[in-house]
Amino acid sequence: MKNITVIGAGTMGNGIAHVFAQSGFNVSLFDISAEALERAVATIGKNMDRQVAKELLTEAQKSEALARLTTGTDLKVAVSNADLVVEAATENTDIKFQLFKDLDAMAPKACILASNTSSISITKIAAQTNRPDKVIGMHFMNPVPVMKLVEIINGYSTSEATTAAVVEMSQSLGKVPVSCNDYPGFVANRILMPMINEAIIALHEGVAGVEEIDTIMKLGMAHPMGPLQLADFIGLDVCLSILNVLYDGLGNTKYAPCPLLVNMVTAGKKGVKSGEGFYDYAAGLKNAVVSNQFK
Ligand code: NAD
Repeated sequence: MKNITVIGAGTMGNGIAHVFAQSGFNVSLFDISAEALERAVATIGKNMDRQVAKELLTEAQKSEALARLTTGTDLKVAVSNADLVVEAATENTDIKFQLFKDLDAMAPKACILASNTSSISITKIAAQTNRPDKVIGMHFMNPVPVMKLVEIINGYSTSEATTAAVVEMSQSLGKVPVSCNDYPGFVANRILMPMINEAIIALHEGVAGVEEIDTIMKLGMAHPMGPLQLADFIGLDVCLSILNVLYDGLGNTKYAPCPLLVNMVTAGKKGVKSGEGFYDYAAGLKNAVVSNQFK
């Protein structure tokens, strides 16, 4: 595989395009928004400059990588000679289902279609296509150039040949691929989200405050950040939506989102991206929010 198309040029798409281009692949980055593409190319350049400063990359390697990257807003052109498509568009079922119908119609017959979805069923995405054996999950972690893991998700119909090709491809990016089967939340979010939810329940029940919960988990479990701060970084709306996927898909009340999380998202407190979640990020600071909702 030489030619990779990345769909969606947001947070994850620009990181995925970055690592493929850096590893010698030709990358065609597609988005419906020309501004998103411009921002992505600027971000990739900036992140590569950081790698050059740290002597992880030479100036020549950076220029070669950027020369292998093209962008566009025409899907047919973007996938015309793709060997692998990695879809990283907005986490919305309708958008992904339509994209996979279009990709199936437009991409070469042998092309593997991967999705970076955090929570949508790979089996359902594959069912939109006439090549479910060639549809797979490639769940990169944020920030993509830094994080080693790629969670490889096998849909019900994914073939062994597709899994093997994607595992090999992930290794050639210097990543560590780990395979799992397609059930709600896969492995990473099935385990992470209940931990975050439990931290919110502990806060809601007054077991301890924001700082106390985060410090106990940081120092006690050697986690680089506490679960409430991590939730703020991921986005409280994203956490809520993944918990709902677990709750609906597995039918077990242990996944029911904490009412405090539901309230905060409803009130527009989504974490870092909205300026406030469990912490207040005003003026670049990070102060635990003291709210009567937390009592
Ligand atoms: P984002 O909002 O930063 O970027 C999404 C991009 O998709 C935007 O640039 C948007 O213009 C584009 N887009 C929307 N509709 C499109 C379409 N029809 N065709 C092409 N592009 C389209 O989102 P993100 O955080 O990069 O997430 C992308 C995917 O990665 C989601 O499926 C998400 O669940 C998954 N994911 C995110 C993270 C994370 O930490 N952000 C981690 C792992 C996986």
